[in-house]
Amino acid sequence: MNTTAQSKIDTHSVMYITKRPEIMFVEGHGSWLVDDHGKKYLDFLQGWAVNCLGHSNPGIIEALDAQARKVINPSPAFYNQPMIELANLLTSHSCFNKVFFANSGAEANEGAIKLARKWGKLHKNHAYEIITFNHSFHGRTLATMSASGKEGWDTMFAPQVPGFPKAELNDLASVEKLITDKTVAVMLEPVQGEGGVIPASHEFMRDLRALTKKNNILLIVDEVQAGCGRTGKLFAHQLYDITPDIMTLGKGIGGGVPLAALLATDEVACFEPGDQGGTYNGNPLMTAVGCSVINQLIAPGFLEEVQAKGAYLRELLLKLSYELGLDGERGEGLLRALKLKSDIGPEIVERARNLEPIGLLLNSPRPNLLRFMPALNISREELKQMVDMLKEIIQSIK
Ligand SMILES: *Cc1c(COP(=O)(O)O)cnc(C)c1O
Repeated sequence: MNTTAQSKIDTHSVMYITKRPEIMFVEGHGSWLVDDHGKKYLDFLQGWAVNCLGHSNPGIIEALDAQARKVINPSPAFYNQPMIELANLLTSHSCFNKVFFANSGAEANEGAIKLARKWGKLHKNHAYEIITFNHSFHGRTLATMSASGKEGWDTMFAPQVPGFPKAELNDLASVEKLITDKTVAVMLEPVQGEGGVIPASHEFMRDLRALTKKNNILLIVDEVQAGCGRTGKLFAHQLYDITPDIMTLGKGIGGGVPLAALLATDEVACFEPGDQGGTYNGNPLMTAVGCSVINQLIAPGFLEEVQAKGAYLRELLLKLSYELGLDGERGEGLLRALKLKSDIGPEIVERARNLEPIGLLLNSPRPNLLRFMPALNISREELKQMVDMLKEIIQSIK
């Protein structure tokens, strides 16, 4: 690659799947990224809520290095030590008994869908329908796109995988209406992430658990984005004091590397040999990182700090909203959104990135909304710095 200042990055071989800015990141530390020109950016994307411990976390580097020197992949046909250790860590800190490891959130959700359908075949007269929600996001495979409630996705790669009727979040009657003798499960994100950081209400989650129990229907929580400490609890459903039957994890569990998990209770974990697999499942290089991540999240005081910083960010955003006449904020823990009132989200994102000498990386999942998904170990100073930068940008637009 030519590195003279005026040269453009030669990207002609990279398949075009999204509009990317002409920036190439070469380094990251904590809440900061550095591009190939040496410009620093305060990072509130963190690989899309993936780097829960920030960039270049020493524990993750250590786990990768130590495991790479031992064994990288003896094959999924054999046990390995980090796979067992991480499965035990997850079951001992949750209501689940069994864990299957995958490589992405979508793959974990595919596993959850298959497990629910298998359970329906065995225990519910072949029931297979899974009620999901409008504006939900479960991944980009054909089945998880069909499960997702994103506008336009029903026709994008038609025909869809059948069996995913859509209800409205926080509207129990809309779920009840869809229940038939074919219903095997209800699947939801405790906090809709891509949909715009919309938490399920406490009342809704409690009533939904009661409704599904009463009708012998499984409850699946997709915690790919909201799990692993993001909401200030180790798992988001713990905010609601409910016990689901199946949970999926992704993003944060790998701290930046591709790792995901499907968890189920003993009653529901009904896969038989041949039903589920995958070449990389449970590989020790990634599960060793998962062990480091979970051990850091459950260290004394860590999640309390996430809750405190979530409350601090909320306070800063409410103050900003009041000062600039915006529409308030919402979220749980360190997954928050600022409501802008008008469709200036994309412009803010662009101006924030282009700010000199220090840039700011933000996301606007809807044009009237900004989403914040910082590292869980971000400092209060960095939270304050972000809101100060944001204030300047919004004032320059208005
Ligand atoms: C990101 C996300 C997924 C998909 O995860 P991938 O690793 O991109 O496949 C699924 N569900 C939710 C809630 C997500 O936020």
